[in-house]
Amino acid sequence: MNLFFTQTLFAWHDAHPRSMPWSGEQNPYRIWLSEIILQQTRVEQGLPYYQKFIETYPTVETLAAAPEDAVMRLWQGLGYYSRARNLQEAAKYVVNNLNGCFPKDYDELLKLKGVGTYTAAAIASFAFDLPHAVLDGNVYRVLSRFFGIETPIDDPLAKNLFTKLANDLLDKQQPAVYNQAIMNFGALQCVPQSPNCGRCPMQPNCRAYAQQQVHELPIKTKKIDKKFRFFNYLFIQEGNEVWLHKRVEKDIWQNLYEFPMIESNKLLETETELIEAIQADERAIFDEKTHINIKIMQKSPVFKQILTHRKVIAVFWVVNICTKKMSKKTNFLKIETNNLATFALPKVISEYLNNGQLSML
Ligand code: SF4
Repeated sequence: MNLFFTQTLFAWHDAHPRSMPWSGEQNPYRIWLSEIILQQTRVEQGLPYYQKFIETYPTVETLAAAPEDAVMRLWQGLGYYSRARNLQEAAKYVVNNLNGCFPKDYDELLKLKGVGTYTAAAIASFAFDLPHAVLDGNVYRVLSRFFGIETPIDDPLAKNLFTKLANDLLDKQQPAVYNQAIMNFGALQCVPQSPNCGRCPMQPNCRAYAQQQVHELPIKTKKIDKKFRFFNYLFIQEGNEVWLHKRVEKDIWQNLYEFPMIESNKLLETETELIEAIQADERAIFDEKTHINIKIMQKSPVFKQILTHRKVIAVFWVVNICTKKMSKKTNFLKIETNNLATFALPKVISEYLNNGQLSML
């Protein structure tokens, strides 16, 4: 069965070449960059980011030396911003501790911030031809279906079971080609929804197909609970300038910029509700207790951004408010409104700005 799987996979791979900017790439810096960008990101979405990063930071040294804000700005829109922070931390580690040379060994690769078993296996095999099988969502799906494995892929036992099987199947003479082939097979043939099993060369020996389990496998036990968060953004403009706030807390969007914000536990519909929320949580904006004199000029429609475990519901309120006591807070800054696009902003804010909301002012 294993031999059939590997031979069929190679034959399919030869017949379905998939050209990517990083195909055949052996430079570990570029491979690492592409793998980090593609974590939790579709290829079509990640591709332009990969190209921008390669152009802006062609070497690990240039990335390590870049200002953090510039890296975050380039990453803007990709989500999972901890990846960008880890990227730069790992780049600094390679430059400062390893003389700018990427580790050439799987266990050493794992020491880089943000590099897990999947990324370490990808770099080890693609850059150095080392025999480590990759295990990502595509590989879990292909193996689970072909071998009819009913162990839930988020079960604590699953990782060892699938890692062992993936390494048994790996062609040790051509680990890079094998890894690329199985990932492409999962991405193009054995796709999550409605795979075309009628035209699949694996079909004669595919357990899921034989047992009519294609749509049940792989099994996942935990359903992600998407909690709602309600952000009320205050758009406070003074002449040609607008107030921003840098998110420094350990929370979503760490180190990104946003407008001063009051978080509420439900969607605020009216001006009275907003004023009450600001009064109840005025320390979110002011350093000390203050008399709030606020005039609301405009309220935006609701904007939404879906994250892995959260759904952010955002409303933007254009307000006049006394800003004297705001300026004392360290994470608040006033910038020229025209320069907003040069700051790393969460997607929901970019959408608000791109939606022509500001032209209505
Ligand atoms: S037959 Fe269907 S389920 Fe089985 S490997 Fe092929 S595409 Fe996947």
